[in-house]
Amino acid sequence: MGRIDINREFNKIEAPVVCFDNVSKKYDDNTEALSDVSFNIFKGEFVFVVGDSGSGKSTMIKMILKETVPSSGKVFVIGHDTKRLRRKVVSKFRRSLGVVFQDFRLLKDRDVFENVAFAQRVIEADTESMRQKVTKMLELVGLSDKVRAYPKELSGGQQQKVAMARALVNNPVILLADEPTGNLDPTSSREIMHLLEEINKRGTTVVVVTHNQEIVDKMQKRVIVLNNGRIIRDEAKGGYDGVKNETGIYLP
Ligand code: ADP
Repeated sequence: MGRIDINREFNKIEAPVVCFDNVSKKYDDNTEALSDVSFNIFKGEFVFVVGDSGSGKSTMIKMILKETVPSSGKVFVIGHDTKRLRRKVVSKFRRSLGVVFQDFRLLKDRDVFENVAFAQRVIEADTESMRQKVTKMLELVGLSDKVRAYPKELSGGQQQKVAMARALVNNPVILLADEPTGNLDPTSSREIMHLLEEINKRGTTVVVVTHNQEIVDKMQKRVIVLNNGRIIRDEAKGGYDGVKNETGIYLP
């Protein structure tokens, strides 16, 4: 009978890509935006973060990006204690995360190709590999026929797809989406969510902040529910169902 190799067993345990360890955040005016929040997100997970306005969702996203740091507790992202990341490496760290926002944030004076290529130019990728990667990403999001279009010539859903291609072109470990369907009609919203699911199936960890109850219920993914800066629910496969009553307050 073989003995268990402890080191080998230990190495098999994957570290979380995001770890919040007893995190609290008090802003200067004493508002407590997060209170004693702990959770792990592992590589390959798809997680929704939901909660009413003011419940702490943006603060959580900002902490993952190190745009803000905890007042107490620790935040680890892809192995880094964010508080200890030196100023010099913060930009590089942020570039290892893909982010999309409600308002798309595209460059209006550049076409679709250049908007996606922008992320590659920042990391000084060589021209040929950049061209290949941008082309591949635009294929993935279904916009190969819009390469030379400008943002104003695209629908909201198409603009969000460009933003997703840009967020993914540098192959991030985590894709953070902050209300990605907030400005979109139901059909485009469903398309964006399918795309996020596809990206997740290809191995990227996906974290989505949303108010879109219908989509959360339908997709049956992990849901972290925030209320007043606290996690009141963290379910492996859930929805809003049974959480919120007619007052709009999330119930434990
Ligand atoms: P959400 O994204 O769920 O709407 P936020 O993280 O933006 O929640 O806000 C959580 C709480 O922290 C709210 O009470 C909000 O007013 C407060 N807050 C957010 N940012 C700041 C800030 N820069 N200064 C002071 N209070 C803030």
